[in-house]
Amino acid sequence: MDASPLDVNAVRADFPILDTRIGDAPLVYLDSGATSQKPRAVLDAERRFLETANSAVHRGAHTLAAEATELFEDARTAVASFVGADEETLVWTSGATAALNLVAYSIGNATAGRGGAAASAFAIRPGDEIVFTESDHHANLIPWQELAARTGAVTRAIPVHDDGTLDLAAAAEIIGERTRIVAFPHVSNVLGIVNPVAELTALAHEVGALAVLDACQSAPHLPLDLPATGVDFAAFSGHKMLGPYGIGGLYGRAELLDALPPFLTGGSMVTTVTLEKADFLPAPHKFEAGTQPVSQAVALAAAVRYLDGLGMDVLHARERELEKRMRDGLRQLPGIRLLGDAPAGVERVALASFDVDGVHAHDVGQFLDSRGVAVRVGHHCAQPLHRRFGITASVRASASVFTTEDEIDTFLDAVSGVRSFFG
Ligand code: PLP
Repeated sequence: MDASPLDVNAVRADFPILDTRIGDAPLVYLDSGATSQKPRAVLDAERRFLETANSAVHRGAHTLAAEATELFEDARTAVASFVGADEETLVWTSGATAALNLVAYSIGNATAGRGGAAASAFAIRPGDEIVFTESDHHANLIPWQELAARTGAVTRAIPVHDDGTLDLAAAAEIIGERTRIVAFPHVSNVLGIVNPVAELTALAHEVGALAVLDACQSAPHLPLDLPATGVDFAAFSGHKMLGPYGIGGLYGRAELLDALPPFLTGGSMVTTVTLEKADFLPAPHKFEAGTQPVSQAVALAAAVRYLDGLGMDVLHARERELEKRMRDGLRQLPGIRLLGDAPAGVERVALASFDVDGVHAHDVGQFLDSRGVAVRVGHHCAQPLHRRFGITASVRASASVFTTEDEIDTFLDAVSGVRSFFG
């Protein structure tokens, strides 16, 4: 009997892809950290929109256009409320990477004098500091490196301890009066550790810096109230939270979205355009140039409704059990080194990365695939973190709402055979 209130078999029945077999073995999908599978409710929502309401939003006087616009804006309200936010503070993007670049380029535009007096407060000056962490995904590193290169700012990284937790004492020293931006992951996509958002945000705000949260790996797993955390911006990707590709969100505090200039420009984000200049719509629309991923937004709303229906607290509690089973099991296997094996008590999601002594991660991945087990191998877009742990690649297993205890055991059993197979 399943001890948790989640009826995992009923949940599994919602995911058509789980009927897939890999050779003779049933698929054990432990790669949700890379991209999640989609329940029928999400697939149906996108199809239904395209079959019954498809039309260009925010323009056109016809019935379908009005319907599409309503569904699109309802989706914004649903997704914003899933992260505790108001709809005007949610900007649609194509994903977390686009959201983080949007913030970096918008600040870059403010630095270049765009956006008037209100935006100039966010201008970066040569010698200013942009802080990120050693555990960030490349999507939350490179946009800041590029912004620094364009503005003459300096980047600094908060190190991680051997156990994968962030070195908060170092953070308190690094974040200082020159710091303008502190970017960090809510949950590392390699370590699965939940970082102390309130503490890092407070360090940023004490020195007047902006706190930018990468919520990609937390949004599918933890109940979120972004405004309550105090962060200034947060980014997430729909395809990692049971939604479709090509849609994600940027949450921004209202006064910041009001003050900052747009990144992309063009149609749909303007009021008046002359041959000389354009006036922009208020946020969030001024950040949404061009045709938006409308059917994907509608389907993402179905995804967050589905997650809410299961209960984010319930999911998180269940994931803790799965995470413990996975990590305890891996710890008992000889030749396995878990990355960032922080002591019990450190909050995590059900994701673990590890190195198998003497066997390359790619070989491990192929061996597990021969048993039907799908995991991620490589550096997971976190090369600096892998370098920090003295390796170039690892194997990552990540669970989702449909993962069972039996699947974790199948995975552990497969991992236990890796070293003898490769001799
Ligand atoms: N941040 C983290 C922590 C991630 O895990 C990922 C995806 O792997 C991203 C950012 C980038 O997300 P996307 O590729 O959907 O833009």
